[in-house]
Amino acid sequence: MRTGLIILAAWLLAPAALLCAAAAPAARPNILVILADDLGYADVGFHGCKDIPTPNLDRLARSGVRCTGGYVTHPFCSPTRAGLLAGRCQQRFGHENNPAWLPESTVAGLPLSQTTLPQVLRTAGYRTGCVGKWHLGAHPQFHPNRRGFDEYFGLRGGGHIYTPGAKGSVEYLIPMDRNGQPEPLTEYLTTVLAREGAAFVRRQRDRPWFLYLAFNAPHTPLQITDSLRERVRHITDETRRGYAGLVVGLDDAVGVVMDALRESGQVHNTLVFFLSDNGGPVSVTHSDNAPLRGAKGQVFEGGIRVPFVVSWPGRLPQGKDYAQPVSSLDIFATAVALTDTKVPAGHALEGTNILPYLTGERTGTPRDRLFWRTGGGATYAVREGDWKLVGGAKGEIQLFNLAADIGESRDLAAQQPDVLTRLRQAYADWNKDNVAPLFQSPQPNQSKAAKKAKAK
Ligand code: CA
Repeated sequence: MRTGLIILAAWLLAPAALLCAAAAPAARPNILVILADDLGYADVGFHGCKDIPTPNLDRLARSGVRCTGGYVTHPFCSPTRAGLLAGRCQQRFGHENNPAWLPESTVAGLPLSQTTLPQVLRTAGYRTGCVGKWHLGAHPQFHPNRRGFDEYFGLRGGGHIYTPGAKGSVEYLIPMDRNGQPEPLTEYLTTVLAREGAAFVRRQRDRPWFLYLAFNAPHTPLQITDSLRERVRHITDETRRGYAGLVVGLDDAVGVVMDALRESGQVHNTLVFFLSDNGGPVSVTHSDNAPLRGAKGQVFEGGIRVPFVVSWPGRLPQGKDYAQPVSSLDIFATAVALTDTKVPAGHALEGTNILPYLTGERTGTPRDRLFWRTGGGATYAVREGDWKLVGGAKGEIQLFNLAADIGESRDLAAQQPDVLTRLRQAYADWNKDNVAPLFQSPQPNQSKAAKKAKAK
């Protein structure tokens, strides 16, 4: 009787969110977002890669839906992350460039006006964690712990050395950050991030959780361990070999985290997204975006279409392909729909809950159009159905039909004036709600000059 009363009292005192979670676990799954950095479209086994083994990513793909038309909102690092975590096109709020590492700047970072996905999930009782690359501002006001994450461990800049003791720019040598406290890097970085991600997964017990696990692999520098090098020694091109080692390290890390999920019995209660933040920088890392045209930095498909997997065994089909366009914007919208949480008025989400499309409950396409813009309009693109418009500030414009020409090699602008006009107008309409970039990306010359000055 007494025990019963205590249990009843504990039940009544428990937070409402906990009760909901206990009542309907499958309706409020954990959400795990695994982000790769600069991973080429063709550089995973599940897209046919032959020279880089990615068994863990392939297993993840088989356990869910492979979205072959998966896009990010920008062809490079920081804006994509801003769009993903805000659930809105980042051009709406001026986050269109990479912030320089400027701890004194209250401008160069994800604007505080934006509500983040972890902030929203927290109101639904979720425990929120971020492990890995932040790249959304160096000022303390932009710290992950102040943007909705209960826990943070990782690299706060745009990249980092992997090997302890290696040389690098100031930004790449910043100590790891654990909830605002510096920690030295004492082990190979991807290994450390895997362990931290797995530890987060294992230590959650009573509440649903959200983990944003943002690896910096396989972004440069091409630093790999001897054992990774051994596993990619069949690759003769030295640059690609280094890159491949980073991809294998990433794949191992995903395996470690997915093992933690399996071993803690959470596979059927966890919705997993895996994607890259942009396409491969082909000339830099000899990554491969085939059959897509272009690379990181460009609004051709190679810059913005990425490996994209959604897995939730028991709720989503397994081993299925989904070809309609989906976007990194859909992660926020899907999470909100699943958890039945409210987003503050004025924070207009621009994604779609894609689960009904992935299960087949809904047919058709999750959206009519997708848009991209870089550098305040220096380049832009629109996708509508199979049509893709690619334009630039100097008036250059091209039109492709992706169904017939995935490699964007045949410009149909002259043959399809009506489509061209319609897509141009659609872009102009979308662009009306955008603002000018709030900050500029650091110039390579500037950082070189800063390095030189420091060396003197
Ligand atoms: Ca990137």
